[in-house]
Amino acid sequence: MSGFSAVMKALPGKESAVVIGAGAIGLEAAAALRTHCRTVSVVEMEQYILPGVLDPDMAEDVRMLLESDSIAFHLGEPADDVFFDGEFRGVSVSGKRVEADIGICAAGTVPNTGLVKGTGIECGSYGIRVNRRMRTNVESIFAAGDCAETISVIDGNPLAAKLASSAWLQGTAAALSMAGLEKDYAGSAGTFVTRPGRLEIAGTGFTTAAASERGYDPVMAKIMAQVRPEYMNNNKTVTVKVIADRETGMILGAQAFGEGAAASVNLVSEALFYGASLETFLSVELAYCPAVSKTVCPLMRAAEGALRRIRR
Ligand SMILES: Cc1cc2nc3c(=O)[nH]c(=O)nc-3n(C[C@H](O)[C@H](O)[C@H](O)COP(=O)(O)OP(=O)(O)OC[C@H]3O[C@@H](n4cnc5c(N)ncnc54)[C@H](O)[C@@H]3O)c2cc1C
Repeated sequence: MSGFSAVMKALPGKESAVVIGAGAIGLEAAAALRTHCRTVSVVEMEQYILPGVLDPDMAEDVRMLLESDSIAFHLGEPADDVFFDGEFRGVSVSGKRVEADIGICAAGTVPNTGLVKGTGIECGSYGIRVNRRMRTNVESIFAAGDCAETISVIDGNPLAAKLASSAWLQGTAAALSMAGLEKDYAGSAGTFVTRPGRLEIAGTGFTTAAASERGYDPVMAKIMAQVRPEYMNNNKTVTVKVIADRETGMILGAQAFGEGAAASVNLVSEALFYGASLETFLSVELAYCPAVSKTVCPLMRAAEGALRRIRR
């Protein structure tokens, strides 16, 4: 909250803003700044927004929606300098000047593992190494949350979750295990939701690129559809993408934006936890009434699409 108070204090009279980083926090900051500032720019060194958590095609769709809300994007080039003459004046992006009266840096986090340096407690690539009970290699010392390396619920390999929902379950497993109740942490699917302005964006599991890197042969299907039957008033749309493994039919991930994006993705998160195949997933009955949903919702249509591609 101290960061929030500092921004609120600095904001009056500021006409333009720049945000470094187009991750969830950067996009939420940009949308919030847009309610105060005439112009808002986001600088992202990767080629597309929400890198690592959305596929490029989904990220492009989302970028266009955010641009229609007057947020400008500079993609594929890093911010490499800050202009400051007693007041913040903007940033340099590969030598080009992006002027702004106020700036927020949301360019990612690294686990704070300094405390264990030189103690003999082992670290992996993503933080302090722990077993499923969040115990480090030192029997009586546990680690949980952003500082700890977690594992993927899908393939059991190391992962950086950096999510409050993961921290909560890891902390619970650590506390119960410390108390002698030996509780396992199942692993993370990296399930997230973010809401820059009015747009809900969510994802779970592996992106297509991550699935390939981890040795799967991913197939995917993407559906953009209204969430309620066409004859209903005030209908809204959602875009859902489902990713599965061609060889086994196992679900590997999903991404969505629009109405009910998080609800769709949470269903897939459950499926990942249980290691469900597309076929099993499609056997589940979901609640339906016209005022709320369709008999076959966009998520299930995307899952059907992925299954059809496997059978082709
Ligand atoms: C702006 C922002 C928005 C976010 N929004 C979301 C969201 O919407 N959804 C989501 O799932 N995740 C979100 N996250 C991520 C989420 O906040 C973290 O994953 C989660 O808080 C991790 O919990 P933690 O307990 O590991 O760390 P923290 O919540 O950071 O808690 C660690 C605490 O330890 C204290 N500490 C550190 N070092 C020491 C020390 N040496 N001695 C004593 N105390 C120490 C710190 O001051 C801090 O209070 C967000 C993160 C940020 C920065």
